[in-house]
Formats: sequence, structure tokens, C-alpha cells
Amino acid sequence: MKAIKYFLIIINLFLILTVPISGTNIRVLLKKTSSSRYITSNKGMIIYDSTWKKGVKVIAFRKAKVSYSRRKIEVYVNGKTYRESGLIFKPKSGGNIHFNGKYYRGVLMIIPESENDRFWVINILDIESYLKGVLAEEIPHSWHIEALKAQAIAARTYAYEKVLNNSSKSKYDVCSTDMSQVYGGVSSERTSTTKAVNETKNYILTYKKRPIAAFFHSTCGGSTDDAEYVWGKKFSYLRRTTCKYCSKSPHSQWTYTISLKELSRRLLNKGYDIGYIKRIKMLGKTNGGRIKKIEIKGSKKTITLNSNNFRIIVGARYLKSTRFSAKLYRNNIKFTGSGFGHGIGLCQWGAKGMAEKGYKYQSILKFYYKNVRISKIK
Ligand SMILES: [Zn+2]
Repeated sequence: MKAIKYFLIIINLFLILTVPISGTNIRVLLKKTSSSRYITSNKGMIIYDSTWKKGVKVIAFRKAKVSYSRRKIEVYVNGKTYRESGLIFKPKSGGNIHFNGKYYRGVLMIIPESENDRFWVINILDIESYLKGVLAEEIPHSWHIEALKAQAIAARTYAYEKVLNNSSKSKYDVCSTDMSQVYGGVSSERTSTTKAVNETKNYILTYKKRPIAAFFHSTCGGSTDDAEYVWGKKFSYLRRTTCKYCSKSPHSQWTYTISLKELSRRLLNKGYDIGYIKRIKMLGKTNGGRIKKIEIKGSKKTITLNSNNFRIIVGARYLKSTRFSAKLYRNNIKFTGSGFGHGIGLCQWGAKGMAEKGYKYQSILKFYYKNVRISKIK
């Protein structure tokens, strides 16, 4: 049964993606831009039209200038201009495509977006190669190999889940920023993280035979949380767990002080014109110790915000988590908290702590994701 299931997953993936690259592919949005860009390759490349029928050979390191023009993509190369409704840049064997200061594996696809007079640059490559360009961006490459392997499986699962659940109309599966997973192509690859990807090749986390939504965060600060408290949706495998392994994280304990004037300004920027802040009240706590809601009484009105929205309004880099208490002073408010990130799923500093205590990646993953299996894709 299991083999059939995964065979079907693979078939689905091939139906979604028709670009002929070996393995299971992912489409990563690198850029949406209206200004012209240069694309080159260290071993030379062939530029195809979007049907893969017409191809123009370009010798190594010769630049191709790409721009948007009247609903089409124009490329200037070898002294000629070509106009197409889409382009694919494929490096010659053993080479990589160079774009925006970085080298990428796989191919680059350029498509026009007429509504905004610009074009999209999408990197299409097999998932294993993609992960090598993700891992060191998401976790320090100097960390224990078992923590790196746990992160590799979480990142791979995230990628498969996105590829499988994207609608067929979608032109890409993930972006290259922290909106998805940070991806920097070949330039971001490191020996240790590549080893972690290779040694866990094709393994993902599944629940009821589907890839899970493998959320992760920096530091839980003592307890992860049930997903419904953060996103309002229940996941059977994203459950609260007490974590005593992330205490060495620099984000384990923190304080943040902001003036009431500045906090009012940040609220106003997001459309909450409440005037001068008079009182702030925490409403309810999750089982993992996070604040559920915040009531802010201002001179003009009183508002109640979901704590995650409040964190984003204040700035998620400053108010590192919603696991905090707050004290109001005459001109300031001081937050004292623990952890960094949303607190759902894998705690990265906890994974590091567990690895250093001798736990293998399988135990680490099953500690942070409940009722899951580690399954091989093929
Ligand atoms: Zn933790």
C-alpha cells in the first residue's frame, strides 16, 4: 500500500512539472523585476523558448541580457535580440547558471507578468539539490550532524508538502526568502549541510501517509505549542511539548523595552489609531505559555489584538515570541520573554541540544512532531 501511495505522489509531481530534469522538481521564485538582468553560465548554456523547441547556444561566461517588453521576454545575446513568451536557461553539463550574484543548479525559467510590466525568474531543480541550497541558510552549518539531519528532513518535508499542495495554476511552489525557506543556490551550500541532505536522501515526515506541514522555529523557550493557538487550525502532529533542550539558545530569555510613543506610532502605521496608551492587558495563555490576546486601552479607543498580530506590528525581530509578560511604566513598556519564533513544531536550538546529548535525528523529529512516521519517498 505504502509503495503504491508514494508511487502516486511521484506521478502527481510529474504531472505538475513538465520541465525535463531528473528527480522530483521544485519551482523556486527568485525574483519579480521590471528592470533588465544579466544571466550567464560558467560552462556555457542553451537558451530555449518556453516549449523547449527553439534553442540558442551561448558560450561560457557570455552574458545574456533579459528584459520585459510589451508582454514578452526579450533576450539580447550573441549580438541578436529574441522575443519570446517565456525562456528557459539550461547550463551545459557540469555547469551552473549565474543570476543576481549567485550560482544555481537546475534551470532558470523566465516568464512575463503583463499586469505589472515585469518578469519572474524561477529556478527549477530537483528537490535534493534545492535542499542543499536551503539548509545552511536555515540552520548554522557548524551544528551537530544529527541536528542538521533533523532539519534536512523537516526542510524536505516542507518542500514536498508545498509541491504536492500547490494548485496546478500556480507558477511556482516556494519563494527563496523566509516567506518559505531561505534558499541561496550553490553559493549557500556547505560540506556539513550537504552531507546531512545526502544521508537523509528521500526521507520525509508523514502523517496518514501524507507529508506533514513541518513547521520549525529557532527557540521555543521551554515549551512548543499546539498549532491552533497560533494559526487557528488544528494539526494532529503539531502538539505542545515541554522542551528542556534549548536553554543554551541566545534567545532563551530576553527583554525588549519600547517607548509608549513609538508603540502608538507602530499601531497607527497598521491602522490602529488608539491615541496615547493608558493600559495593556494580557488575555489568556496557551498550554505552552504563550499569550493568546492583548487588550490595549488608548486615549481614543480600546483594541484587542491576537498576540501574533501584535508581535508582527511591534516587529518580530524585537518581540521575539509571544511567550512574554509585559510591564507598563510611565513612558515605556518592558517585555520580558523567552524563545524566538512562533513556537510550533521543531525547536532548532532544542534539536541542537538533543543532538549534543546523544539523540539521533529520528528521536529528535519524533520528539517535536507527534504521531508521525519517517518515510522514504522511493
Ligand atoms: Zn525548545
